[in-house]
Amino acid sequence: MLTAVFEKVGSLVLQEREVPAIKSNRDVRVKVEAASICGTDVHILADPPGHPATPGVIQGHEYVGEIVEIGEAVTNVKVGDRVVIDPTITCGECHYCQTGNQNLCENGSSIGIFVDGGWAKYSVLPSKNVYKISKSVPSEIAVLAEPLSCVIGGTEKLKVQPGDNVVIIGAGPMGQLFTQVLKAAGATEIICVDLSEYRLKVAGSSGATHLVNPGSQDVQMAVKEITGVGADVVIDCVGSLFGQCMNLVRRGGQILLVGMNEHAQPPIKQYDITRHEITVKGTFIQNHDFPKVIKILESNQLNLDVLITHKISLENIHEGMEIMGKGDAIKIVVYPN
Ligand SMILES: [Zn+2]
Ligand SMILES: [Zn+2]
Repeated sequence: MLTAVFEKVGSLVLQEREVPAIKSNRDVRVKVEAASICGTDVHILADPPGHPATPGVIQGHEYVGEIVEIGEAVTNVKVGDRVVIDPTITCGECHYCQTGNQNLCENGSSIGIFVDGGWAKYSVLPSKNVYKISKSVPSEIAVLAEPLSCVIGGTEKLKVQPGDNVVIIGAGPMGQLFTQVLKAAGATEIICVDLSEYRLKVAGSSGATHLVNPGSQDVQMAVKEITGVGADVVIDCVGSLFGQCMNLVRRGGQILLVGMNEHAQPPIKQYDITRHEITVKGTFIQNHDFPKVIKILESNQLNLDVLITHKISLENIHEGMEIMGKGDAIKIVVYPN
């Protein structure tokens, strides 16, 4: 079968591989229907890499497919079921797993990053990592289950109420999904900030009420003008703009840090957090959010079509990576079969 493999630093190669066999009686084999390219995939393939990965691994951690084989002990799905994938493998035994915080597992791994993933015709994975989804959800929408689960995990920490205003910094896939979810949650003003006019335009379709380009506008002034006192909630989807978040949040407001940049060390005036009672929260992947996400996708309550900007076959994955790297896309969907 054709696969796209992270070969070594900076290199993704198309490779013919054997169709994988089930290794444990709790494994399932999935025929991949569609997968998508994530910002993390771009970071993995950067030189130097912005995200670690295991050389030789089939990439792709956001995918949907059909169960074609199950191990003897599998009970949650049967052959013919359509499923989306939770790519996080947890140990189940560490302090965090045992206290219900699997996203913080000390021995976790990720499908499509450290073990073989979904940029392939077939994928074998543990049955606990698959969730049934209705065949009525289009494949290009179903692949959004994983990134949407991370956004739901983040919004659960915020408790945004109708009437709240929100600033979202970074209008990539995560920023767009936050915009749509918080719109559905009742946020009145949603101010999206990005340097790309292309992404800002899509953010408008996602439900942003105000679009701010720091290339031509003073973000702090724009937010002050729209909100009066500053934003109730500021979300950094970039991973290095904590300092800017502090300039935009109102007294008593919340900051959610979503984007990840290992090297970012923004200077923060600690005094302001104390004096203005700012709540700062980090959020990482998701925790038990897949069942909720599947209900959201099946109910078609978001406007996810606007995020699907490209559809390609697996043979053209390099072209997809290039477009994604340049920021000329929101979501690229890859069809391996
Ligand atoms: Zn991802
Ligand atoms: Zn664990």
